[in-house]
Amino acid sequence: MAYTYDTQNIFARILRGEIPNKTVLETAHTLAFHDIGPQAPVHVLVIPKGPYVTYDHFARDASDAEIVDFNRAVAQVCAMTGVQPGEGGQGFRAITNAGAHGVQEVPHFHLHILGGRVMGRMVAQAD
Ligand code: 5GP
Repeated sequence: MAYTYDTQNIFARILRGEIPNKTVLETAHTLAFHDIGPQAPVHVLVIPKGPYVTYDHFARDASDAEIVDFNRAVAQVCAMTGVQPGEGGQGFRAITNAGAHGVQEVPHFHLHILGGRVMGRMVAQAD
């Protein structure tokens, strides 16, 4: 199946520097920045710089270097924000939404790192 990447999506525009962001971390293949509408005291979005629509798209088509870089960046963000449960933090939730049933708003793969409070039930009932 072919994914169609919308080059005008908001995260593509952030990556091109057209829209400002509060950067937490930038690596060769990955950018992490604070969510504009935080739903927890820690709410960071980690995105690959490449044009991937969803997690499965990224996991299927990204290079090994991109995938390793992304995952190492996630670990760094957890360390930088102090949420690592194995390192004295109180833990976090990582979420990625994909497509219509996942209720994905921005069609550029992103991982939400949420922490700083108890996150509650994993999945809420749809309205
Ligand atoms: P989704 O529903 O696609 O998983 O999540 C999209 C996230 O992007 C939301 O949490 C929303 O607050 C965040 N977001 C949308 N537009 C912007 C923006 O311009 N800047 C930042 N930093 N976050 C954004």
